[in-house]
Amino acid sequence: MTPDRQAAGAVLIRTLQEELGASVIQTPGEADFARHLRDFTNEAPQGLQLLGIAYPHTTEQVAHILRACHAANVPVTPQGGLTGIAGGAVPVVPSLVLSLERMRGIEELDTNARTMTVLAGTVLETVQNAAEEADLFFPLDLGGRGTAQIGGNAATNAGGNRVLRYGMMRDLVLGLEVVLADGTVVSSLNKMLKNNAGYDLKNLFIGSEGTLGIITRLVLRLFPKPRSAVTGLVAVADYAALLELLRAASSAFGATLAAFEVMWPEFYRLGTTALGRTPPLPEGHGIYVLLETLGTDPQRDETRFQEVIAELLDSGLLQDAVVAGSGRQRQELWAIRDCPGEFPKVGHWPQLGFDVSLPAGRIGDFVEHSRRLLQEHRPDLACVYFGHLADSNLHLSVRVPEQASPAEIEAIEELVYRAVGEWGGSISAEHGIGLLKRAFLHYSRSPAEMELMRAFKRTLDPKGILNPGKVI
Ligand code: ZN
Repeated sequence: MTPDRQAAGAVLIRTLQEELGASVIQTPGEADFARHLRDFTNEAPQGLQLLGIAYPHTTEQVAHILRACHAANVPVTPQGGLTGIAGGAVPVVPSLVLSLERMRGIEELDTNARTMTVLAGTVLETVQNAAEEADLFFPLDLGGRGTAQIGGNAATNAGGNRVLRYGMMRDLVLGLEVVLADGTVVSSLNKMLKNNAGYDLKNLFIGSEGTLGIITRLVLRLFPKPRSAVTGLVAVADYAALLELLRAASSAFGATLAAFEVMWPEFYRLGTTALGRTPPLPEGHGIYVLLETLGTDPQRDETRFQEVIAELLDSGLLQDAVVAGSGRQRQELWAIRDCPGEFPKVGHWPQLGFDVSLPAGRIGDFVEHSRRLLQEHRPDLACVYFGHLADSNLHLSVRVPEQASPAEIEAIEELVYRAVGEWGGSISAEHGIGLLKRAFLHYSRSPAEMELMRAFKRTLDPKGILNPGKVI
């Protein structure tokens, strides 16, 4: 930003402060700026000067702020709970940060339509708990549930561990209210599952990471509360057996199958012995899978689960299995799958994470291919694979030498993303593009797709003020 633009920005912030009050528009020195300069894993560029931070309480205030920023050409970085790991909410240019954190609260819970209308800054866990109190269920769940905001979950089209059964955030949103770059409020607070009245506008904003508009209100889809949860950990010999297990489990459990979480041996070791836990199944198997069903009948569902596992053991498809007999055992099994949150405790841990997707049938070969590529590139890299296989989603964590330079890291990223592109996969399955993957987007999108995305961006944000430097 030129000194002129910076000065114009400062004048605008002062005007907004007079119009909306010093509590809504804060300037450097007033707010705790440091916490707005990073997400879960990424930091803003050193020395980046923010113009100010806006904490609007209402959609009208968001519209007021955007109208003024649009007129003055001042960039805006929208922020939710800052639990992302792709840098989507991290400011990269001098801009006004617009935090949705004061726009929180549940406005309506309609038990007939099975919907909940919420403000965008509402924390995910608050939404989950409110549904539970009404004897209903909001299925989106992820590690950042206590901090992540529902508007950010929609802006990034969050995934998580129950996508197999309930879909991604896109499938859980029925309606949205969005403020466009020029301050126009688009209210599309639909409550119906069926609505074919023209283009599906909400899906343009879900997953756009705040580059096309700022989500201020959502109508969420709720589900009947599951009455039973049965969880087991099983082991198979190899990837071919794993695909057979996915077919067998899908057919035996039908729609109740809610998790099919796959862990390769290095990951299993990290999640158990490396963290001081006794492995529930011995090491040495080819692949480990955490299976979970969510059903309607606690007694019958558990018996059925046990029967299916016993049959699969008898047939030789499963090499070993354990079924959780209590809530505590269930949590212990999930703790192994959720261990990436604990990686920093393991000393030198796999710190470079990838979130990609490939057709499920090709993931086993891709694991071997990418492992070979990375090892040929640098023999000192260690690879850890896991993922939501039924969703075609593979996570890869690479332990990179601590002294590796940014250029060396980029070479590793380039290697992995190019391979994903060549194999017909997506460089982002559930974490978004944000800042980190922008340079690699072309590996997963054709020139025509990229141009269509740019056309949307030009139409909805002609001056490019919304979340500059992100996505496209
Ligand atoms: Zn994941």
